[in-house]
Amino acid sequence: MRPPRPEPPDHTSPGHTPPPQAPARRAPWWRGRGVERREVGFWRALWREPGQVVRIMLWSVLEAAPAFLVGHAVARAIEDGFARAEPLVGMAWLAALGVTWTAAAVAARQVVLGVAAVAEPFRDDLLAHVVEGALRRDTRGDSAAVARAGLQVELARDAFAAVVTTVRGFVFTVVGVALGLLTLAPQAVVLVLPPFVAGLGLFLASLPALARRQRAFLLADESLAEAMTDMAGGLRDIEACGLQEGVAGRLRREVGEQAGAARALARVTAVRTAALAVGGWLPVVLLLAGAPWLLGGGAGPGVIVGALAYVTQSLAPALGGLVEGLGVSGVRLAVTLRRITTAVPAAGPPRDRARPPTADVRLDAVTFAYGPHSAPVVDRLDLTVPEGDHLAVVGPSGAGKSTLAALISGTLRPGSGQALVGGVPADRIDPAARVLIPQEAYVFRGTLLENLAYLRPAASPAELDAAVAAVGATDLVAELGGYGATLDPAALSAGQRQLIALVRAHLTTAPLIILDEATCHLDPAAEARAEEAFARRGGTLVVVAHRLTSALRARRILLMDGAQVTVGTHDELVRTSPLYADLAGHWHPEPVS
Ligand code: ADP
Repeated sequence: MRPPRPEPPDHTSPGHTPPPQAPARRAPWWRGRGVERREVGFWRALWREPGQVVRIMLWSVLEAAPAFLVGHAVARAIEDGFARAEPLVGMAWLAALGVTWTAAAVAARQVVLGVAAVAEPFRDDLLAHVVEGALRRDTRGDSAAVARAGLQVELARDAFAAVVTTVRGFVFTVVGVALGLLTLAPQAVVLVLPPFVAGLGLFLASLPALARRQRAFLLADESLAEAMTDMAGGLRDIEACGLQEGVAGRLRREVGEQAGAARALARVTAVRTAALAVGGWLPVVLLLAGAPWLLGGGAGPGVIVGALAYVTQSLAPALGGLVEGLGVSGVRLAVTLRRITTAVPAAGPPRDRARPPTADVRLDAVTFAYGPHSAPVVDRLDLTVPEGDHLAVVGPSGAGKSTLAALISGTLRPGSGQALVGGVPADRIDPAARVLIPQEAYVFRGTLLENLAYLRPAASPAELDAAVAAVGATDLVAELGGYGATLDPAALSAGQRQLIALVRAHLTTAPLIILDEATCHLDPAAEARAEEAFARRGGTLVVVAHRLTSALRARRILLMDGAQVTVGTHDELVRTSPLYADLAGHWHPEPVS
């Protein structure tokens, strides 16, 4: 099932909501060129890694080898070995079967690894969906919904892996058994196939009802848990207001509904057992009952035992695995996927956002503390950054530089005072008006192009090339295999991730850019190049400096030292601030001019 296609994303880091929707949005230029935005879906996840799928298939052939061999080996062991008093021949056939089983175990391990490689991107897609949905809505106050959705993502990933593993195992085993039975005792197929198909059909037919009832059961269960929590939290009020009867009645109703849902689920679950009996065990009965007919047709007793081995050792367990895999994991996958896509819809209602008329930053007596009883990190700070200014923020670790960056970008709201961008409270500005790049750059699994154009999907190829060249990422783009290359975030270095995030920020039209140690993993030359690109780009630039050289490039420097804040040029600060002079000496052993 597919959720609605996600809209182009917000310009952030968590906590931000989107710009009001433009009435007509230009389609991004990469649409229709084989570059798709991230969507969630079973088949999409599966076919995105065709190499892995082929690998899984090939290992599956080996894994299913015993399913094909078991009947032949047993039949030959009896007919050519034990029945002729040649136990060594019999043992040799059984040993051959044992070797195949060992090889199959190795193959099974490879299959598990392959399935994991397919399931991880699926999990990434789901997580991206949850996070993007959460960013787009105002989830302050509803983080529990996001946490629940996160948990559902893990469940869905496990269920996805289980479904792929069992369905694949079933198909390969059935093919192996069919080939084995056809080559060993073709007439036995008549006794095995009809009940098997009937059992399988019965099970598949019960699946939709099973999914519906499983979902109803989960919802009833949650509703009951919620009612219990409400009741437990309000016991004193219930008592004080004399509401015992009403609350008890509601709980009785909830319990009744949950029990009803559980019974309904149990009834369809019974169909699963019936399907297994018909498809897995009825063929055994028919083979035994039909033994005289098979013997009359020329099959030896060994062949009959071999046919029985096919059913009991391969077919029935495979059907049992499918019933378990699809009936439990498959249903869970369908239910959780649906819940993820409905719990966190891809697009929620945007809050009122204002496009600031200018990009000047003003803090008026801003105070901020992380807790009601903790000392303020920022204390009555006044600061003006005119439009087009380039401000570096320096200070020892823990001085509050990142906190200040978050206040300016609106990700944090002042406890008292005002943080304004163009006269608009920073947490109310249109997110498209500013970009905050934190130290840990966000790169997601997707193409390089999707990552670079994430904040501006409608950018033209020329604009993209220009941003890449300006920030100094041309070599990186080539190294990664061009814009169409698929990125594995974990395989990139921290510096590579930062360069990608920097291009992404540079490409936007945001008039306010805040880099919070966003270049700390680049070497000094690369950092200089990136920062100079942002200085040339125009707009207001606030850089939380990792190295003193960042401060030297800025027009003005803000030095944070606990509640003490000083603003000035480098020369002024070296003269007036012992701390700055000390930091300058520490960071930059050469005397700086
Ligand atoms: P800097 O960026 O200068 O290293 P920060 O702004 O990250 O400083 O942190 C300033 C102070 O606030 C530090 O003492 C830090 O421990 C504290 N702090 C930062 N983030 C949080 C948070 N989320 N919750 C509580 N305290 C925090």
